[in-house]
Amino acid sequence: MAELLKTFEVAGLSAHTYLIALGSNMRVPGIGQPREVVRTAFSALGDIGDMLAVSPIIASAPIGPSQRTYANAAAVIECEHTPLALLSTLQEIEREFGRTRCGRRWRARSLDLDIILWSGGIWASERLSIPHPRMHERRFVLGPAAAIAPTWRDPLSGLFLSQLNARLTRQRALSR
Ligand code: ATP
Ligand code: MG
Ligand code: MG
Repeated sequence: MAELLKTFEVAGLSAHTYLIALGSNMRVPGIGQPREVVRTAFSALGDIGDMLAVSPIIASAPIGPSQRTYANAAAVIECEHTPLALLSTLQEIEREFGRTRCGRRWRARSLDLDIILWSGGIWASERLSIPHPRMHERRFVLGPAAAIAPTWRDPLSGLFLSQLNARLTRQRALSR
């Protein structure tokens, strides 16, 4: 059995696939404006594993106390990291981009990297929830995500990302 597992690992079959959401609404010295920060973060993510897809970078209105416009995007990566290991690596990258945590959510930030979906389905622990608990209500997440992974299913609702995104877009249109 151990031999068999080893063979799978060598063949790369132990890899995980993740959908990551990227967001920035602050200039980073040495890098530039949020759009440039997100572009640079794509290559940092590429160092973690294989980058399978990268979305266009969109501009979106701020949420929470910060008033600055966001640059948002999504990426699909394949890597050997378990979910918690990936979270730690993403938080290291956020720190490298100058992000500090002052205990307050949604403040202006140089870079936010959230795990949205995982090939293994659901993860629920104190540090990490997958699917990301607020993805269903966020156009700035679902728009870029549906652009690169339209047929990835949300394990909670069973719906494709393209369906979740269409639903949100429709709701917005109706409430106008
Ligand atoms: P939001 O979660 O609403 O997008 P945020 O991204 O600004 O807010 P952070 O300050 O980046 O929030 O993260 C707060 C905590 O969320 C992290 O310390 C992390 O442990 C936890 N967390 C839980 N689930 C996830 C996930 N799927 N991806 C990233 N962080 C997560
Ligand atoms: Mg976030
Ligand atoms: Mg975050």
